[in-house]
Amino acid sequence: MRVLVISDIHANLTALETVLADAGDYDAAWCLGDLVGYGPDPNECVERVRALPNLQCLIGNHDKAALGEIDLALFNADARQAVSWTQETLTNEAHAYLESLPEAVEIGKYTLVHGSPRQPVWEYILDRNIAAQTFPYFATPYCLVGHTHSPVIFTESSDGPPAPEKRLRPGERLTLGRNRRILNPGSVGQPRDSIPDASYAVLDFEAAVWEARRVPYDVAATQARMASQELPERLIARLAYGW
Ligand code: ZN
Repeated sequence: MRVLVISDIHANLTALETVLADAGDYDAAWCLGDLVGYGPDPNECVERVRALPNLQCLIGNHDKAALGEIDLALFNADARQAVSWTQETLTNEAHAYLESLPEAVEIGKYTLVHGSPRQPVWEYILDRNIAAQTFPYFATPYCLVGHTHSPVIFTESSDGPPAPEKRLRPGERLTLGRNRRILNPGSVGQPRDSIPDASYAVLDFEAAVWEARRVPYDVAATQARMASQELPERLIARLAYGW
């Protein structure tokens, strides 16, 4: 089974459509949360994701914020403005769908969460030291996370210091093998690793082979829709730089 792994779409339909067109054939889709927030197309992105085959979708912190389940004081001013706009824009149907999403699931050898296995919605696994602390919090060999918007792979080390982080080149494949790993496909709609191209992964479910993927999309088209909705300038600008 070939699984499309996407995360942090952030209401960027242009990036999402580009990824879906680039991905080729896949049998199932796993979405690691943050379908909405920041971008101009929350309802369209929810609708598109819902229609994916054999979908497993998780809730992210921005999805919870859009549902009114998170204190807005926890977000910075730009994010807060985007959350308020998203709350006003979300249809009842999209709202109900986001409300139905789980915080964590296990599928075969894989645990899926948005943030980390220790705190599924909120914790950022930013480096190998944080990753090392979270390995005890999942039971499967591998854990898939999003949330940081940066594609990376952490490997458990049985003793000594945490193993170095692995960053694959686009198109590069890694056989996951016997080591336990935490894998982040990066962000579809708002990459933050200084590369503006949409980031995702393709997983061979049975063979446990992870392929990193990158694809450029029409950033200006998304920026134009954000401007027409008067979303914050800084959020519009950052898409072009990948931060
Ligand atoms: Zn996010």
